[in-house]
Amino acid sequence: MPMYDYSCDCGTTFEVLVPSWSSPAPDCPDCGARTHRRPPSPAVHGRAAPPTPLSSTPKSWEGLNNGDPATITHWRRTAEARREFEARHPEHHTRQEAIAAHEGRFERAPLTYRELATRAATTGDANRAAAEASRARGGDSSGE
Ligand SMILES: [Zn+2]
Repeated sequence: MPMYDYSCDCGTTFEVLVPSWSSPAPDCPDCGARTHRRPPSPAVHGRAAPPTPLSSTPKSWEGLNNGDPATITHWRRTAEARREFEARHPEHHTRQEAIAAHEGRFERAPLTYRELATRAATTGDANRAAAEASRARGGDSSGE
């Protein structure tokens, strides 16, 4: 189970183990209000631990804080670190690409972090990059 940082508007921050990235944010332990997930902080576990498996990267746009650039950058780097790790240790190989989104237009051609990062490199805008990726997958006119 992944551990995530959460913060509350009252100023409380805490971390908690949740079943998956898509789990709802827990209530604030101090005031009971709804909390927000914070972008993961850089490696707490040290270099010795294998990078996060690609299977635990977020699989939805919502999971990426609706395209928050810092969150995307974090997961792209995580995915790259994992790929390098797997290249050196093939026995840990899991899958080829980390998928950032696979709903809607991305159902048949999932949006990978690699593509998202490539598209965002020109504009620096992850949301625009995702919109471009979406447009690239289907015409606005004919639908199916
Ligand atoms: Zn609170």
